[in-house]
Amino acid sequence: MSPEKMAAACRAPYVPGARAVMCRLRQIGCSLGPGRLLSSRGKRGRASQTTPTTRDLFPRDRSTLCLKPRPPVVTVMGHVDHGKTTLLDWLRKTSVAEREAGGITQHIGAFSVQLSTGERLTFLDTPGHAAFSSMRARGASLTDIAVLVVAGDDGVMVQTRECVDLVRSAGVPLVVAINKCDKPGAEPERVEEELLQCGVQLERFGGDVQSVRISAVTGRGVPQLEEALLAEAELNAVMGDPSGPVEAVVIESHVDRGLGPVASVVVRHGTLECGAVLVAGRTWGKVRAMFDERRKPMREAPPSTPVLTVGWRDLPTSGDNCLQADSESAARSMVQHRASTPARLSGVRENRESGEGGEGVGVVVKGDMVGSVEVVVQVLEKRQPEGAAVRVIHSGVGAVTDSDVELAASTGSVILAFGVSSTKSVKALARQKNVTIHSHTVIYKLLELLKEHVKGTLPWRE
Ligand code: GDP
Repeated sequence: MSPEKMAAACRAPYVPGARAVMCRLRQIGCSLGPGRLLSSRGKRGRASQTTPTTRDLFPRDRSTLCLKPRPPVVTVMGHVDHGKTTLLDWLRKTSVAEREAGGITQHIGAFSVQLSTGERLTFLDTPGHAAFSSMRARGASLTDIAVLVVAGDDGVMVQTRECVDLVRSAGVPLVVAINKCDKPGAEPERVEEELLQCGVQLERFGGDVQSVRISAVTGRGVPQLEEALLAEAELNAVMGDPSGPVEAVVIESHVDRGLGPVASVVVRHGTLECGAVLVAGRTWGKVRAMFDERRKPMREAPPSTPVLTVGWRDLPTSGDNCLQADSESAARSMVQHRASTPARLSGVRENRESGEGGEGVGVVVKGDMVGSVEVVVQVLEKRQPEGAAVRVIHSGVGAVTDSDVELAASTGSVILAFGVSSTKSVKALARQKNVTIHSHTVIYKLLELLKEHVKGTLPWRE
């Protein structure tokens, strides 16, 4: 954004957007019902709710889905030390169920917050974008809304920008929480302007991203944040079908001393009950028992509920889609079929086939100077007039980092490093995640390398 545009945006009067209106309506006890005020992004959000998340042996007929509003699944992201963990602790503490139970929460990777109105929100409790990336890398788009925590006394930092890019490339709605507003040095207005500079269009500037000022230590503003999340969920028509076979996503798994292999899952569709036979990745299990995050036995888990499941043959992997099978023998044959399927295709192809990350090959550009990064990005854009074959997911100055590799892995992208190196550990991570890093000190050589890479997967447009 040019300095003139930026200045004009900052002078623009506050126009309450659809989200602010929705929040106000909710405060006075009115609701338009899910999806009635859809933005263009909301429409995409809704479409993704009804398109298959996985092609499998148990296809669920999406045309017969009976969708009902469900609690949104929220991931908290942001720069280190900006207060993600403190915010999650506060949210957990303020849940009605938590207060009643006396506050002993076990870590199962996600928790549900019940508000005094009875409404619920589900939070993934591993903050940060590594969790978000690794989930997406396996094709599971569990997060309905991302909360970007930015410390009011620190402002937008490197990881804040990375989170913005990641959330944007995933097409997930964003709500900003400007934290540490209790501190005398907090300057929320400055933070809002910095966010605008990195392309986050806050409602204050006429955009559609809600921003709430909070203190995760005193709890000030947290109810408004919860309200904003519920409004966002309503606008994006966050829905699930509580009937029919269960679809869930594995959050974590481990071997419990007394219970054997256990896995916490968040239900997407269907209502999970004891006795259900589940298949995830290359393992399966018959659910013998279910617990919530307070280790309270559960009888049933409707959509968006995090639940610890007992009865697995082996440990499923976090991010695996989990589907209900008709019987134990069906589950067994499904796992056998999967085991005999050849090794997975390369990241790019896989992402294209699952529809993740949009059309084309994503590119993460790293360079030694702002100028050189800009040139590489411009050349890429110029060589791709129709913009279909190559998309720049993220660009930045400096060496290739672990987070660049995570971002590339989750979006099926290739990394172009112009005049910068990557350490041994970054290269090892890239190998492990099947991410290609092309490095060169001559731009056209770098583009040649990219061309060869793309040619192997897509038609190259000159
Ligand atoms: P994370 O790395 O993003 O998870 O950050 P933490 O939640 O660990 O917080 C980092 C530090 O900031 C801790 O010392 C917190 O006590 C402090 N902190 C977090 N939120 C607030 C806040 O709202 N106000 C103040 N004054 N300190 C905060």
